[in-house]
Amino acid sequence: MEKKNAWLGYDETELQALKELNEEYKHYISVGKTERRAVAEAVRLAEEAGYVDLETLIASNTAVKTGDKIYAVGMKKTLALFTIGEEPLEKGMNILGAHVDSPRMDVKQVPLYEDHEFAYLDTHYYGGIKKYQWVTIPLALYGVIVKKDGTVIDVEIGDKDEDPILGITDLLIHLSADQMQKKASVVIEGEDLNLMIGSKPLDGEEKDAVKAQMLKFFKEEYGIEEDDFLSAELEVVPAGKARDFGLDRSMVAGYGQDDRVCAFTSLKGLLDAGVCKRTSVCLLTDKEEVGSIGATGAQSMFFENTVAEIMNLMGIDSNIAVRRCLKNCRMLSSDVGAAFDPNFASVNESKNTAYFGYGVLFMKFTGRGGKSGSNDANAEYLADVRRIMDDNGVRFQTAELGRVDQGGGGTIAYISAKYGMEVLDAGVPVLSMHAPWEICSKSDIYEAKKAYTAFLKEA
Ligand code: MN
Ligand code: MN
Repeated sequence: MEKKNAWLGYDETELQALKELNEEYKHYISVGKTERRAVAEAVRLAEEAGYVDLETLIASNTAVKTGDKIYAVGMKKTLALFTIGEEPLEKGMNILGAHVDSPRMDVKQVPLYEDHEFAYLDTHYYGGIKKYQWVTIPLALYGVIVKKDGTVIDVEIGDKDEDPILGITDLLIHLSADQMQKKASVVIEGEDLNLMIGSKPLDGEEKDAVKAQMLKFFKEEYGIEEDDFLSAELEVVPAGKARDFGLDRSMVAGYGQDDRVCAFTSLKGLLDAGVCKRTSVCLLTDKEEVGSIGATGAQSMFFENTVAEIMNLMGIDSNIAVRRCLKNCRMLSSDVGAAFDPNFASVNESKNTAYFGYGVLFMKFTGRGGKSGSNDANAEYLADVRRIMDDNGVRFQTAELGRVDQGGGGTIAYISAKYGMEVLDAGVPVLSMHAPWEICSKSDIYEAKKAYTAFLKEA
């Protein structure tokens, strides 16, 4: 049971591969700060690697065969990639799943207002956040504004060197006597996450002149009127690129590593695996942080429908064949896990805790209380995954999410498991999970990618 820190086992070649992967990774999470952008960048990488859009194949009724590389996008927010293997699809596929949405603040539908000659956008946070962490930090604004004529306007402010940043203020310590007595959950309240965007009044305007100035800006910059915010999806996220963390550069700090660290490593795992015996899949879902709901969440029919379409192009127009395919799948449902933090050691139980530098993390179950809401992977399946990891020199560790009854969390594992397929929670340990800047170990990222490639080849 004795484990060794993965950093101690690398030769020069592996260290170089580790470094290259992490450079690519930092770029991916820096340009993919929303689910739309994370999907778009994944599609770009996939197309570069020869993957073609399923819609094109359907339109031309092109037959699908072994070796084909296909991707399908759902509403620009969820993505499934397939490398068709040698075995018939009915025998099942090897699936890597992860999610591309991250905690953030969404701009409300009626957001713009002026208060004492400041202009603000009102927000509603998305996913689980400690609200006090999101004030006094540089913020960026990403998303789309869609006009009634269907024009989609892309918004991206705060990450280019020449861009302004946005932000939310906090009370000065000098006058915080009352605030400092409050519970952490209400120090900053949800309704007070007001994004400050301007302070300059428009000349000649008598009432709400700062708001008027902002409306003029939106008109000139994006060609929109105030009511166009009604059909917009604007996400407020931390500004700035992902960076090396630590004097030894052994870690990565960046926004949205939950769960784009698993999305990226799963995607890379798929691209590197080539054509395998079984069909390989990488499934990137949306809405995990709010319950995997909606048309782009893991609970939607998107994946099942996509599989049916692909089988149809293989000449298999059979409902039972689709069900057999899904039942016979094996999946690593990958999401970040809580890494041991010596500053908060008491929330963990040391034998069943994830540590930085000890490799990809497997969790037999997640959930809270008595494992409530979790998928509980079968021992037989875990044994096989262990075998694959050991045979391929992948460093792995196992853990639970904290001490019993300390809290908990869920993933998309239980959703895919409904088909009767084998599913195991896997992932990368993260520090400061759900904070504006999260931290991962470069070696765990590297081992996760190795694990995913090995799984696709041999599961
Ligand atoms: Mn997650
Ligand atoms: Mn999360």
